[in-house]
Amino acid sequence: MKALWTFLFCGVLLTITACTPAANQTFAPPAQELPQPAAATPPGQYNAGIPHDQYNAETEPSQHNAANASGTAGSAASSENTQVAAKIPILMYHSISETPKHDLRVPPRLFEQQLQHLKEAGYQTLSFKELEDWTAGKPLPAKPVVITLDDGYRDNYTAAFPILKKLNMKATVFMTIDHLDQETNLTAQMIKEMHESGFVEFGSHALTHVRLTEHKDNDRLRAEIVQSKYELEKLTGTPVTSFCYPYGAYNEQALAYVKEAGYKFAVAMDEGVAELSQGVYTLLRIYIPSSMTMDQFKKKFP
Ligand SMILES: [Zn+2]
Repeated sequence: MKALWTFLFCGVLLTITACTPAANQTFAPPAQELPQPAAATPPGQYNAGIPHDQYNAETEPSQHNAANASGTAGSAASSENTQVAAKIPILMYHSISETPKHDLRVPPRLFEQQLQHLKEAGYQTLSFKELEDWTAGKPLPAKPVVITLDDGYRDNYTAAFPILKKLNMKATVFMTIDHLDQETNLTAQMIKEMHESGFVEFGSHALTHVRLTEHKDNDRLRAEIVQSKYELEKLTGTPVTSFCYPYGAYNEQALAYVKEAGYKFAVAMDEGVAELSQGVYTLLRIYIPSSMTMDQFKKKFP
């Protein structure tokens, strides 16, 4: 029954979004994300008490900044075109795939065209780790941009990762721990390879993909936020600094746990260009639906 409702909802979503794009339109974030496989882990299985700093910092790969070392993928340190950025566009993608057609699935060819445009227009991709310079008031590239991909789809490895490497650009994948190793999602080995390349940073998208505002149990809510950070750090061997609220849903308690866990940034699904005045735990993003034309994209990011 749930699957039927999801199917019907997505049908309606497709019908609506496919008909509405117009030049200069502000693209509202979707009310629902792509349907996910059922969570493999029942609630309560995680130990909410493991502190986030138990990962072994010594295992952090030394080649983590390979993209920086090789050139233009967003090094904040170089050149005369640096300044303290007031606003940073954080682009929100999900799946990078052709089919089945859905506004949350951007075809690889279009994704590459969009990134190519950003590169030619002088944008430099930054990781959230590099955004710590932003909060510290240090200079950033003149045209910084952050690329985010939610949920940890396998096509982030098969389709997006080769494009990032080809264009020497960076992205952050927000991984839901329960999606790990599922058929349509990233494997632990893929995450390790992407992380070690320096082109992909991983942020947490919680343990399960439920709305955090629906948790009645604070221990469970805390585990979604704190334990997911710990699990991701075990996979990558490096501190995880960013969190993404599933469905963009958060409340005061969730914010408190994000802060307690030691995240430096969190993003939701509310539409807009990120500014520090929004608060580092409620940064806005810009939704890039597959129905956005290249003309619309270029106007949004001149
Ligand atoms: Zn999601």
